[in-house]
Amino acid sequence: MPPDPSAGPEEQPFAERYATDEGWSFGTLSVHAGQEPDELTGAVAAPIYQTSTFAQDGIGRPRDGWEYARTGNPTRRRLERAVAALEGGEQGIAFSSGAAATAMLAELALPGDEVVIGDDVYGGTYRLFEQVLRPKGIIARYVDLSADPANVRAALSPRTRLVWFETPTNPLLKLVDIAAIADAIAPHHGADGQRPLLVVDNTFASPAVQRPLDHGADIVFHSATKYLGGHSDTVNGIVVTSRPAVAERLRFLQNAIGAVPGPFDCFLVLRGLRTLALRAERHATNAAAIAVLLAGRDDIELVHYPGLRTGRHAHPQAAIAARQMRGAGGMVSFIPRAGGPHGRTGRERAIAICESTRLFTLAESLGGVESLIELPAEMTHASVAGSMLAVDPALIRLSCGIEDAADLLADLSAALDRA
Ligand code: PLP
Repeated sequence: MPPDPSAGPEEQPFAERYATDEGWSFGTLSVHAGQEPDELTGAVAAPIYQTSTFAQDGIGRPRDGWEYARTGNPTRRRLERAVAALEGGEQGIAFSSGAAATAMLAELALPGDEVVIGDDVYGGTYRLFEQVLRPKGIIARYVDLSADPANVRAALSPRTRLVWFETPTNPLLKLVDIAAIADAIAPHHGADGQRPLLVVDNTFASPAVQRPLDHGADIVFHSATKYLGGHSDTVNGIVVTSRPAVAERLRFLQNAIGAVPGPFDCFLVLRGLRTLALRAERHATNAAAIAVLLAGRDDIELVHYPGLRTGRHAHPQAAIAARQMRGAGGMVSFIPRAGGPHGRTGRERAIAICESTRLFTLAESLGGVESLIELPAEMTHASVAGSMLAVDPALIRLSCGIEDAADLLADLSAALDRA
C-alpha cells in the first residue's frame, strides 16, 4: 500500500521516514546514507550482523532475501548503499580489500583483451596486471594520461576492454582529466565492438573531494582501507557503478569468487564515513600548509601537491584540480635536495627524514586520522622497481592526518633540519 501523505511522522512507515533523501548535500549524506536507524530496534548505529547464514521461512523462502552471508549481509549492504550514494552511483559492491576490488574489476577483461592503464599507479595494481594477468593473456599498456588526454587514443585497439587510472596518481599526484578521457574514448570500438569501460581508482581523493561518475567514468572504486574507513583499523574495498550489466557481473563475482568483507569491517567503514566530510576538510588544510612549508624551503628539490598554484613548485595541472576536485586532498609528495648538515645524497636525506619524524609515523597506507610518512621506492612501490613506473628513490610520500597543523609543521621542519 502506498504511504498516506497526510500521515504524521509518527504514523509513517519506518522505512519511508528514514529513507535517504537524494537531495541532501554531501556532508549530510556522509552521516546518513545507508545509516538509517535499525528497522527492528531503532538502533542509530548500524547493527553488525555477525552471522554466516540466515534461517529461512520455508524451502525457497528466504526471509527478506537473506540466505548466506557470502551472498549478502545486511551490514555489508548498508555500506554498499552508503558509498554508492556518496559517489552518486546506483550500486555499490564491497570486497575484502582494495586489491580484491582491483582483481574483480580486472575479471571484466578476458584473455586476449587489453587494458590501458595510467603510468603512475599503486604498485600492487601493477603487480596484479603484470604478474597475475599478463601470463593469462590480459595485456596492460601503461600510458601517461595526465600529460595529454589524447595520449589515450594512441593506446586504444580493437581489443581494449578497460581504460583505468588513478587521479591524483600514487605517488606523484599527477591529475588526469576524467571528462577529457571519457570524451576521447567515446567513439572507440574496443573488445567485442564495445566502447571501453572507464575505471577510476578514487582512493587518493575520496568522494568528498571528487566524484568520477559525475565526469563520465563508468566505474569508480576504492581501497576503503584509506579515506573511507579513515582510521587505519580495517582493510576493505568497494566499487560503485550505475551500469546495470557491470553491477550484475560484479555482484556475481562477489558471490562466485567470495572475496567479501566481514560485517565488522563493513561497520568500521560505515562509522568512518560519518565523519568523512569533516575529515576531508582537515586533511586538505593540513596538506596545503605542509605543501607551502616544503615549497618555501630551498633544501627541497620538488614538491607535488595539486593545490600549489604559484611559485617554483606550482602544480602543472592546478586547473584540472579546480575543475574536477573540491580542494586538493590530503596527500603530498616531495624530494629533498642533496646536502643538508651532513652532506648527504637526496636518498640518504629522504631515509633520515622518514626515520626521524615523531608525529608522522613511518608506515605504508594513507587516509587515516594520523599522519604517515613513507619512502615509496622501498615500501608501497617496491613492486614497480626497474619498470617504467619506477619512482625516484628519494621521493617521500606524506599522508597528512587531522592533527593540529602547527604540530605537524614543527615535526616535519625538525626532521628536515636534522637530515
Ligand atoms: N589503490 C590504491 C590507490 C592504493 O593506494 C591501494 C593500497 O594502498 C590499493 C588500491 C589496494 O588497496 P588495499 O590495500 O585495500 O588492498
